[in-house]
Amino acid sequence: ARPSIVVIGGGFGGATVARALGLAGMAVTLVERDPTFLACPFSNAVLVGMRSLEQQRFGYDALRKAGITVAIDTATACDPSARRVTLAAGQTLSYDRLILSPGIDLHFAGLPGYSEQAAETLPHAWKAGAQTALLARQLAAMDDGDTVLMSVPANPYRCPPGPYERASLIAWYLKTRKPRSKLIVLDAKDTFSKQRLFMEAWSTLYPNQIEWIGQSKGGAVTSVEAGDRTLVTDFGRHKGSVVNVIPPQRAGRIAEAAGAADRSGWCPVDPVTFESRRQPGIHVIGDAGIMGAMPKSAFSAHAQAKACALAVAALVRGEAPPPVKLINTCYSLVAPEYGISVAGVYRPANGLLADVEGAGGTSPLGAPAGQRALEARYAESWFSTITSDVYG
Ligand code: FAD
Repeated sequence: ARPSIVVIGGGFGGATVARALGLAGMAVTLVERDPTFLACPFSNAVLVGMRSLEQQRFGYDALRKAGITVAIDTATACDPSARRVTLAAGQTLSYDRLILSPGIDLHFAGLPGYSEQAAETLPHAWKAGAQTALLARQLAAMDDGDTVLMSVPANPYRCPPGPYERASLIAWYLKTRKPRSKLIVLDAKDTFSKQRLFMEAWSTLYPNQIEWIGQSKGGAVTSVEAGDRTLVTDFGRHKGSVVNVIPPQRAGRIAEAAGAADRSGWCPVDPVTFESRRQPGIHVIGDAGIMGAMPKSAFSAHAQAKACALAVAALVRGEAPPPVKLINTCYSLVAPEYGISVAGVYRPANGLLADVEGAGGTSPLGAPAGQRALEARYAESWFSTITSDVYG
């Protein structure tokens, strides 16, 4: 019989690995909660009316056509010793290998005062969908002169440059539509991804729109008072008309239910096979994993999925998994015609994925407008290439 593989999560990691293992001749069942997928990359552009949410939506028909069984249901439990997954509707699925790519869950308990209910007033918009639409509506409805607040968590979290791309695009929106308004970014860190490039752009494009407050200046938000639209720090209180709270995060809940997450809330894995260090026979890819230097991005999840598929195909044949190097590139839009990027190359070292020295880098500081415009176009082509590779 063909080896049977169950994949949980039909996002960038899960849909990619399901497709690759289907191509390798395995019997693959993909379990995904939602009938269609809403992609986070470019969802910051949705917030400010540059794109529609529908442009973020992708379906599973191409996977079905490729012979993948797609089960639209939530995986609720996993029994690693019996190698069995239980779905909310009651069905059970047996597997030879299980691959988890559940993305993140918001760790509400990590930020006092914030909760699923509070997110209905102070959206996180860190999972694309209703939350993205809510924050977009709030930005559109606020008066010129009102203040927008954003709270950014400590590392690790999904998409390291994502909050700063969001800050940039909100600033662009304020500058063009609500010029008397301002965005205050309260950050639990003093340094962040592509910081010099973002800061360079902010000081030239948005000197009156963005105030960024790092951890040492009192940026770390310690609690939230949702009813009052207030963020509390050790240095004082900030009240906003629109408040975007990006809370701490951890691996999607099923990772913990499967016993693959450790006390940090994330999943330790072998960097060659992505097999869980806690549960043999279970692999974890994408945001849910502890991947060393490799950031939590759609690009990374997709690259890890392909490497994991190669490893699983070798393991089920009783062969050694091939050595791989992985690449990540993260584009960020600072304005509609202004893109910047960071790229890295990673290899397994000391049990984690480590930077390959001298490879990768960022867009140059002080580049001419033409180069920034070109990078904005590269960002769009990256998105259409990855989404057609995964869902097309
Ligand atoms: P996801 O893509 O989130 O997929 C997880 C899937 O699992 C979901 O569909 C979920 O419904 C499903 N699921 C979870 N639990 C269960 C369960 N128990 N049963 C069934 N289904 C389940 N990355 C980039 O590379 N470039 C960018 O420009 C970029 N921009 C971003 C901007 C923002 C604002 C944000 C928030 C993120 C951005 N990212 C970007 C990051 C990117 O979205 C994630 O890193 C990527 O989606 C991770 O892939 P994943 O497969 O781990 O998780």
